[in-house]
Amino acid sequence: MGGLGLKIDVDTLAGLVQGVPALLRLLGARGVRASFFVALGPDNSGRAIFRVFRQRGFLAKMLRTRAPSLYGWRTLLSGTLLPAPHIGAHAGELLPRMAAAGHEVGLHGYDHVLWHDRLLTMSKKDIRRQVEGAQAVFAGVLGQPAHAFAAPGWQASRASREVLAEMGFLYASDTRGTGPYLPRFGDWVSPVLELPTTLPTLDELLGFQGLSAREAFRLVEQRVLRRTLPQVFTLHAELEGGPLQEEFARFLDRLGEQGVEFFRLGDWAAKLRPREVPPAAVVRGRLPGRAGWVSCQAQEERA
Ligand SMILES: [Zn+2]
Repeated sequence: MGGLGLKIDVDTLAGLVQGVPALLRLLGARGVRASFFVALGPDNSGRAIFRVFRQRGFLAKMLRTRAPSLYGWRTLLSGTLLPAPHIGAHAGELLPRMAAAGHEVGLHGYDHVLWHDRLLTMSKKDIRRQVEGAQAVFAGVLGQPAHAFAAPGWQASRASREVLAEMGFLYASDTRGTGPYLPRFGDWVSPVLELPTTLPTLDELLGFQGLSAREAFRLVEQRVLRRTLPQVFTLHAELEGGPLQEEFARFLDRLGEQGVEFFRLGDWAAKLRPREVPPAAVVRGRLPGRAGWVSCQAQEERA
């Protein structure tokens, strides 16, 4: 059993102002430290609705996962019928609270929806503008730049990883995979360490085979206990800090009782020597319960 890194994605304003305080209480009461990754630009989450027209299976997933009841209609309509609020404008209070509580804080992009839907068609200059926009908000609030980045929607490209390398990020958590690696795109290997998410997320599991939240957390728990290498679990402030709070708290308690140690991704990254981390190609993959493709660590090179 290698411990569990908690990666908390904050995609929306509701996630920041409601989900994060709930998670800070929940984690603080248990002495657990985690890594928060916050989108710091406009909250266009409502535009996700229009993926219905572009992405097969999205409407079915929305209905299957009961997204409106999980996220609330305000979040789903944000940036469409309602004007897009600026998440960064609310970062001044919440980011320092996360840091003061001993959590790691990193970037989850600027415009989450834009990155998620368009990364592959964006120019490197536009990608850089997105990362710099988030970095400017972050540094303006916390007085220093973020050293960690987590790509919205697990969408990574050679251009996005070149930007992270040029901006001097220590590590990223952009992809899904099995363990630390240096991402390879064609003949270029990124010098920025990648710590992939290794476990399924709750929104994937809830839409899969009709699992209840309790059953879904049990499934994640079993995988954590079975595996000997450190694992990374991505949760969402909107869900685990919202309607799934109680089940998430039970999940942490059960793992804690079984001796699982929780770690911040940055602490793990600091212990790894890039020279000892294997390269692996980044490929497009599909995951049960998730619409569209995500960037994945190619497995054949892990031998
Ligand atoms: Zn996200």
